[in-house]
Amino acid sequence: MAEQYNLALAVSMALEAREKSKAVRSGYKVGACLVGEDDRGITCYLPGYNIELSGYPPIHAEHMAYIVGEFYQLQKHYAIVVACDGGYPMCGICRQLWINVNPSMRVIGVNTAKSSPEKVVDTTLDKLLPLPYPTWRSGHENHYDIGTQEQDESHS
Ligand SMILES: [Zn+2]
Repeated sequence: MAEQYNLALAVSMALEAREKSKAVRSGYKVGACLVGEDDRGITCYLPGYNIELSGYPPIHAEHMAYIVGEFYQLQKHYAIVVACDGGYPMCGICRQLWINVNPSMRVIGVNTAKSSPEKVVDTTLDKLLPLPYPTWRSGHENHYDIGTQEQDESHS
């Protein structure tokens, strides 16, 4: 059965979450909305936003959304909407985090730099991170073949 969820609701929740951002150092506010299904089969829209604390690594919106999803014991992860200036969907670390959960998860970036925020990215996680570090899900026996580049004579 196809995944059914309200994308417009997810976008509005990501924008709302962004307003709660505590980007006290960078000023770069990010909001997220994770869409998934809990163990009762109910579609959930869960927020995340970034927090910058003193003496502690920044907490990314996508990371918070992951933890909230853990708390609600999501069984399926359909999509994540990320709202920020530029609409960049996830840093490399967050991509690796989420690849553990669902490589085919839909990832949507919403650019908030526009007067009217617009969707600028709509893809899947495996396209954002085509060669992830092996996950427990994929198993370490499943080594991908990263190939060997042909030696370029001009650089040898
Ligand atoms: Zn990140």
